[in-house]
Amino acid sequence: MKQEKEIIFNGDFEDSEEEDDDQSQDQESDEELNKKKKKKSLQNTNKNLIMNVSDTQYPVVKFVGKMIYKFKLQYVPYQEVNNWDFCWTDNAVLPETLAKMQSHQKINHFPGMYSLARKNHLGKNLNKMQKQFPDDYDFYPRTWMLPSEYNDFKQQFGKAKTFILKPEASCQGKGIFLTRSIESVNPTEHYVAQRYIHKPLLIDGLKFDLRMYVLICGCDPLRIYLYKEGLARFATQTYIVPNTNNLDDVCMHLTNYAINKDNPNFIFNSDEKKMDVGHKRSMSSVFQLLRDQNQNVDQLLEDIKDLIIKTFCSVQPILQQHYTQVDNYANNMCFEILGFDILIDSSLKPYLLEVNHTPSFTTDTPLDQYIKKNLIADTITLMNINLKTKNEVILQKKDEMQRRVLTGKKTKLSNEEKKQIKLQCQRQRDEYELQNKGNYELIYPCSKSYEEYLQHSLKLYEEWTGANIRRNQKKESVQLSQEPQIKSQSQPKKIILEKRSTLYKHVQSRINTNLFPTSKNEQNKGDEIIQEGEEQPPNQIDTIPEVDNDNFFPYEDYQQQSLESIKDLCSYTEKRGRELQILDLIQYRKADNRLNNSHIQQQNIQSILSPLSSIKGVLQGIAIKNVKQFAIRKNNKNVKCSSKQMNESEHDKQQENSSKNQIIPSQQIYQQGNAQGMNGAYLKPKVFSLKLSHPPKGYKLQSLPLLIQQNYTKFRYE
Ligand code: ADP
Repeated sequence: MKQEKEIIFNGDFEDSEEEDDDQSQDQESDEELNKKKKKKSLQNTNKNLIMNVSDTQYPVVKFVGKMIYKFKLQYVPYQEVNNWDFCWTDNAVLPETLAKMQSHQKINHFPGMYSLARKNHLGKNLNKMQKQFPDDYDFYPRTWMLPSEYNDFKQQFGKAKTFILKPEASCQGKGIFLTRSIESVNPTEHYVAQRYIHKPLLIDGLKFDLRMYVLICGCDPLRIYLYKEGLARFATQTYIVPNTNNLDDVCMHLTNYAINKDNPNFIFNSDEKKMDVGHKRSMSSVFQLLRDQNQNVDQLLEDIKDLIIKTFCSVQPILQQHYTQVDNYANNMCFEILGFDILIDSSLKPYLLEVNHTPSFTTDTPLDQYIKKNLIADTITLMNINLKTKNEVILQKKDEMQRRVLTGKKTKLSNEEKKQIKLQCQRQRDEYELQNKGNYELIYPCSKSYEEYLQHSLKLYEEWTGANIRRNQKKESVQLSQEPQIKSQSQPKKIILEKRSTLYKHVQSRINTNLFPTSKNEQNKGDEIIQEGEEQPPNQIDTIPEVDNDNFFPYEDYQQQSLESIKDLCSYTEKRGRELQILDLIQYRKADNRLNNSHIQQQNIQSILSPLSSIKGVLQGIAIKNVKQFAIRKNNKNVKCSSKQMNESEHDKQQENSSKNQIIPSQQIYQQGNAQGMNGAYLKPKVFSLKLSHPPKGYKLQSLPLLIQQNYTKFRYE
């Protein structure tokens, strides 16, 4: 908070190479001057630290980096260079980015955070935990994912009166509606449906919600801070309990700033010192007001902290999974400021509405400028981003390398050694952060144990990813290798794939992924006993696989959760040479004109091509124009293939070509795929299929579709 008085941010920032003079002209004591000198010398050395701001649109971020921390701002796309020390991006970060980073570099997102940030993922993850802990996971409104849970949702009408439906990847209140009749819900549309909290806590007769800023600065183990300041966003129309006549009054039922700011009633904040008036106020002023009304704010805060920690518990294994790719014992290369949206009901019970992984850093009022500038500054201090720390980390790495060379100890550290190093790092962090946490409060680790939630979430994750299969396989192979040698010599192990579902399992166990339909019916539908040795007709693609979103894991899940699987897949494809071919099918969904703007288009273009496309030599890019028709790209030509049979030699040729074919730039696929897609944000690469071009004898081509969803993090909102 001190920095606030020293350097004022007025909402604008122009970067320049000029030296920045200290702005404070006040008369100061020697002690204060000394302190300032010390700080300044640290800041001057920070000029050698590079902060990449190529992918942030927020002046406040650049302002804090340059004016407060004296970093050198870098504008080259952060994925193209690797000399930055600290990167701030407004978008999700891919696992590949983390994999390329060195231990002194830091970035402001965790790969895998989509599992909290998308409404449907959050709903699914919390629902799973709720099944096991119904009383402990009751801090969010009851939620259904449509259309898969349509039937159950339908049963609710009559039990509760009002429901709120939200598009699964939207924001800023877009596309949200309230309903009291099932007829208004399209049974095939994708929505997240929730019970409507119909008795919210009101202030001045208005509904409001809280935007709370939560910093996760370690995932293995979890390390979570809550910022003591945040925002309260108010509706602009006096609240009336929902009835059939007022369901459409968005300025009464929705508290989004984006919606209410256009209401003529909206009172904007005009002075950072007056944080307790208007339709956007400081969170602390609301808490103060509640305290003045003798409400138990301390209990409310405890409940909120508890729900935040439990929310993270539900996805901790997913975040940790990505972290295994870096040797970051200090657990501090990624951090993320998340916006938790909390609605409080009239009995002072907090409800989690959603988690934003790119909360808005727009600073259009003095209140925003004040809060967000301090939030970012406190975060950078807490993350210990400075030249001294960077040099220490690099030195440590060098020492470690030298020690290895000198002792000749090339083997990896044992688990116990790793654990000790981690503990040591954690202790150092505790010490540092205790002194430098600014307006943050450490909420986890804490005295209460959350182990049972973490354990359960790990169990769910393992079941889901098939990690068990792999572990069991390892066990099996150990057992096999321990069996008497004669056995293995006399009878080479032969895998007999008798059924389609066995084939699925067989492939799945090798690439450890969930490419296959989850429903049992789906799997068994085509099961047939295969005659060994029977020759198969050439592979044939005559239909695009039906995509049933609910039976296939979203691409993001696959991508985010299974970098290991991708690696496995690579080595598997290498081993099996040309046997395995991956077809990258990309389907464009019709544009949503409401979301039409060039920034969004840019983002879409970038995120179309799947990372699997980078698996060398096994890819063919296919751009689908619509569900019935698609084309195989071959040497930059589109070959219609919707009903064409491909014979073996064509396949071979294609595979040869595929290694010659450069990876097709996503933009090209995009442009050739469907011009309509240029118009909108909901253009989705949608289908992914894996094909064995030389399947085991007795198997026809299986199309195994996997839903792809692009990153949707295109909007900032509050
Ligand atoms: P978005 O990401 O589009 O802002 P939210 O889930 O945050 O979607 O919902 C928008 C607004 O709708 C919230 O700020 C809140 O005011 C209201 N809202 C959302 N869910 C509920 C609910 N279950 N009960 C009552 N109000 C809700």
